[in-house]
Amino acid sequence: MASPSSIGPHVLVLGGNFAGLSSAQRVRQFAGPSVRITVIDRKDYLLFVPNIPADVFEDQDPALRQRMELREVLAKDDIAFVQGEVKAIDVDRKRVEFVPNERPGSETQAIGYDYLVIAVGNRLAYDAIEGFAEFGHTVSDLYHGNRLREYLHRGGYRGGPVAIGSARFHQGNGAKGLQPYPGGSIPDALAACEGPPVEVMLSMATWLGKHGLGGPDKVTVFTPAELIAEDAGETVVKQLLEIASGMGFHYMNKTQDIRRLTADGIEFADGRSVEAELKIIFPDWVAHDFLKGLPICDDMGFVKTDLLMRNPDYPSVFAAGDAAAVTVPKLGAIGHQQTEIVGRQIAKDLGALTAEEADRPLQPVVYCIGDMGGGKAFYIRSNTWYGGDTAVLKMGRMAYFLKMRYRDLFFQTHGKTPDWGLDLAELLAEGHTG
Ligand SMILES: Cc1cc2nc3c(=O)[nH]c(=O)nc-3n(C[C@H](O)[C@H](O)[C@H](O)COP(=O)(O)OP(=O)(O)OC[C@H]3O[C@@H](n4cnc5c(N)ncnc54)[C@H](O)[C@@H]3O)c2cc1C
Repeated sequence: MASPSSIGPHVLVLGGNFAGLSSAQRVRQFAGPSVRITVIDRKDYLLFVPNIPADVFEDQDPALRQRMELREVLAKDDIAFVQGEVKAIDVDRKRVEFVPNERPGSETQAIGYDYLVIAVGNRLAYDAIEGFAEFGHTVSDLYHGNRLREYLHRGGYRGGPVAIGSARFHQGNGAKGLQPYPGGSIPDALAACEGPPVEVMLSMATWLGKHGLGGPDKVTVFTPAELIAEDAGETVVKQLLEIASGMGFHYMNKTQDIRRLTADGIEFADGRSVEAELKIIFPDWVAHDFLKGLPICDDMGFVKTDLLMRNPDYPSVFAAGDAAAVTVPKLGAIGHQQTEIVGRQIAKDLGALTAEEADRPLQPVVYCIGDMGGGKAFYIRSNTWYGGDTAVLKMGRMAYFLKMRYRDLFFQTHGKTPDWGLDLAELLAEGHTG
């Protein structure tokens, strides 16, 4: 195992994707060189999930374009990396068990910590959807992205109807009572993350048009909720839905859940069904088994924190990103907001920052830039769902440029997009519509 060259309190970060990498970097930034930091992940690269759909529709291999090697990036900040599968956390003894997984057959190892940051994301439970293996498609990882790419571009798809949408999300009770904005809350969501279905619906229609196979009226988008992407706020979603229905898309809400996929379509829990040759599905986001039942987790296995991302009962335990109960919807942009808080809190505990510098509670903002195909994208910045007062929707080429540019900037800066990254995005996307 690589060992950090510095000595001092040990911060152990579980997970090395968006939330894990950024938490580790933020701890180094705010706490300085005296802290030891270790990241454990089962894979040694960061997967840039948001840009997989664009590659699928453009017939590019996301495996060659959406990965960033973690080891060198972490080494630059003197952060040790362990490639292993986390199996158990003992919060009373401050120990984590993992199995080194570079080669099969390894023994279980244990590693201690002074501070623990849990950033392991969730299981995307495709295995809970009857018929998915045979009849379903998706875009949430390299395997499934490439499988859909083959299907679309190598003659599998015959031009029939398309259905795109989510299974029901089962949110835990871990964020109950939190008030991120005056009078607001972290509401209950029935779908984990609905930017992607909206994005894929728009890109799909552009792709159909480009290939002479039709357009929006071939595509049905569905949601278990009252309103798709409701976390973007009612005003924004109603605007989006108006535009989408004007274009000819079909929309089904309150489907409750997916009962099963068949060769001919999708059957929903509310008894309705939709005919579809191609079914692009987003599943339930489920907590990892090793988190379920731990005293730091809620009734569904999501890690409980306050708005400073700290577990109320085990103050040396933090969570960031999709694994945290407070992250609703499961959006990378919200995880990103949390990692700075984690870095500042640990630095405060270690005496590197004052309470005034560190205690800035989470005020989640839904940022979403979705590819629409044809070099255009939509841009959403909204916090009204949580009780805030901002709701912006823009569509056009500038938003697309920003989406692609953000990935480049992320890779170039090794995940340390400058603070002005989001502000610049706001300025450009909100100042332009075309
Ligand atoms: C198609 C799609 C498009 C999206 N687009 C956007 C977007 O435009 N904007 C946006 O903000 N969000 C978007 N999201 C959501 C975004 O991808 C997630 O919110 C984000 O990836 C969460 O980051 P995370 O680090 O918390 O978790 P993850 O990205 O899931 O990372 C978790 C990490 O933990 C590791 N891990 C898991 N279990 C273990 C274990 N037992 N042992 C060791 N390591 C483990 C994994 O290997 C992984 O590296 C999109 C999601 C999808 C599916």
